[in-house]
Amino acid sequence: MAELVAKIAVSAATYWIDKPYEYLVPETMREQALPGARVYVPFSVGNRRSEGIILALSDKSDYPSLKSITAVLDEKPILTERQIQLALFMRERFFCTVYDAVKAILPAGLWFTDQGTQRVQDKTIEIASLSISAEETLAVSDEIRRKSPAQARLLRELAPFGEMPVRELLLFTGTGRSSLNKLVSAEYVSLYRRDLLRIPERTTSVHSGMPILNNEQQAAFEGLRALCDSCKAETALLQGITGSGKTSVYIRLIEYIRGQGRTAILLVPEISLTPQMLETFSSCFEGDVAVLHSGLTPRERYEEWKRLKHGQAHVAIGTRSAVFAPLENLGILIIDEEQESTYRSDKSPRYHAREVARYRCYKDNCLLLLGSATPEVSTRYFAETGAYHRFVLNSRYNRLKLPEVSIVDLKKELRRGNESTISSFLRDELAANIENGEQSILFLNRRGARKLVTCGECGYTYTCPRCSVSLTFHSVKNKLVCHYCGYSQKVGCECPECHGMLRFVGAGTQLVEEELHTLFPDTEIIRMDADVLSGSVTHEQVFERFQRENIPVMIGTQMIVKGLNFENVTLIGVLLADQSLYSGDLRAAERTFSLITQVIGRSGRGEKPGRAVIQTYTPENEVILQAANQDYESFYQSEIVLRRIQNAPPFADIMAVTASGMSEQQVVRACQFMRSQLGILLKEKENLQILGPTPLAVVRVNDRYRYRVILRCRTDALVRKAVSAVISLGSTEKQFRGVSFYADSDPEL
Ligand code: ADP
Ligand code: ZN
Repeated sequence: MAELVAKIAVSAATYWIDKPYEYLVPETMREQALPGARVYVPFSVGNRRSEGIILALSDKSDYPSLKSITAVLDEKPILTERQIQLALFMRERFFCTVYDAVKAILPAGLWFTDQGTQRVQDKTIEIASLSISAEETLAVSDEIRRKSPAQARLLRELAPFGEMPVRELLLFTGTGRSSLNKLVSAEYVSLYRRDLLRIPERTTSVHSGMPILNNEQQAAFEGLRALCDSCKAETALLQGITGSGKTSVYIRLIEYIRGQGRTAILLVPEISLTPQMLETFSSCFEGDVAVLHSGLTPRERYEEWKRLKHGQAHVAIGTRSAVFAPLENLGILIIDEEQESTYRSDKSPRYHAREVARYRCYKDNCLLLLGSATPEVSTRYFAETGAYHRFVLNSRYNRLKLPEVSIVDLKKELRRGNESTISSFLRDELAANIENGEQSILFLNRRGARKLVTCGECGYTYTCPRCSVSLTFHSVKNKLVCHYCGYSQKVGCECPECHGMLRFVGAGTQLVEEELHTLFPDTEIIRMDADVLSGSVTHEQVFERFQRENIPVMIGTQMIVKGLNFENVTLIGVLLADQSLYSGDLRAAERTFSLITQVIGRSGRGEKPGRAVIQTYTPENEVILQAANQDYESFYQSEIVLRRIQNAPPFADIMAVTASGMSEQQVVRACQFMRSQLGILLKEKENLQILGPTPLAVVRVNDRYRYRVILRCRTDALVRKAVSAVISLGSTEKQFRGVSFYADSDPEL
């Protein structure tokens, strides 16, 4: 019998040595050893046992002697040919190993199916989350492998996922709690609790039925349906203001696609996947819907995944990773709020769900639908140049009026001697709402929600010993905390340098809360920020209490912005609109616009009309004015002009190659090395700018310095090849030992 050779992606291979490795398939394994099946193979010098997945089979090899596969782990292949192709695409596009891509494509639960203990269904679930990047995790794991094998195993397990429920993590790695606790004290891993999003019962009794579309929705629906009928790979933008009923259009499109026997995927940002939303979809599609979401346990996610894989459900709804839903014959893939940054994975593989979606739609010849009230400037641009189709919803369903917006100049407020975070105008509005029994929400963005401790005499500030950031004060625990690595310490009563008096500065949510208590002593206030949520409360619980008990005021950060409908909220305050606007990021304007627009959209969702107050030091700023008017089109028109001048997306792509390590000098040298190598490899490339080395916004995290080189040009195969080559070069170069490298496109700057 002729020999049979399998090309295998091996899990133990690092990026720079990742390629299909060839192994012999023993006679006895031929039936099972098919492409897409997982195997054990001996790998590398010590012939350590490593997992792998068969990519292809062949009847010959160029190598004279091959090792043999030691076991086939799957009875039937778990990856389809399409998914193998996708993994290979991801390797090229996102600079990860094929096996990392495979791990992202398949649900975590699949890797541990033989542990059969049925877990008790808690309402919340304890999650272990990496505090360092996947690359660094692997580096640390290697470092400590000899001394603490259990801890190394935990890190390895966590690396590809970023986070995992603690119970599963311990179960799958067979380690004890104490090893995990050590990683927590070393601040590689942090723990928090999260809501379990229950999958709704599949026997819903209430049938609200399919929505009847209004004229505008119907027109968009018909245009999009025609695109679906063309059975070509097309991309369309559904641009509809908040409350215009984009979801209703999605539902009818999915219904249409299902009628043709095709399948559908709907991606939503984390926070908008609420129980109400799932109810809506279950009531329209009943058991045909499967939910894929990080709030499920791996086992639950695995169960949902199986229902899709085995054709028991044909509609997948979920967050970022649902883009990998195992559906064939896809008819439509919808990404709601496509501008959301949660669609980008910041752990390896560093993919953007939209890129994976585009690939899938291209392969399945189906429609990619991007929905948004405030699309990314690039998306809107492609809709203008004809690369994408565009459909518009201009009016709110039910004709609910957008809130009336007032802009308050904080400079004037200061001149009048009001130094507090709440202007006199906003104070009066709040008082009116409290009086009328209506609810208000005050919003601070994340950067603004920090409170620092400094010395009033010498100006001393507390900084993290591991990271290049100031420590933030948390009055609940009376501790100073680093938001990057989790380091914490007690705060004294006097300055450690000069024994002067310490001052607490910054408009943290807690500070706002204190000010409100002074202004309205008898009013109950609820706070919603990462600090509150790090206890055992979940944000669902906070929202529920806010609504049920009709609490007059809620203060919060980012997380209160999206997806929630509170009928009785009639006043929204943006405490400091400037904070995200002047952050130095290329996309600062875009984000600020989107944020303010969405915040304002929270107000006046019920019968009563809403109001919004935006406080700013720069009331004349165009972006703020445009956001206040919910005028996306004029925002877009002025922003696109700037982008062209700046040679920024969509006119050029941006790619960053990052190096991190314990020695700053070494990291900078690694970046200089990459820069010169890129210059050589890309000397023919037109309109190319190579910038850097530049430090990341926070240069040191967990004692590792981070610098990067930035490429601005049209990213094509040549550029990707060059980037891949310099990562490999850097990683194998002796002088850069201990430095880890990764690349991502369109990074946060
Ligand atoms: P968007 O996502 O565009 O901001 P939603 O889809 O959340 O808007 O719709 C806003 C509100 O209007 C929701 O409460 C929704 O139930 C309602 N709505 C929108 N379209 C319809 C329709 N065709 N029939 C019934 N209700 C609708
Ligand atoms: Zn730190």
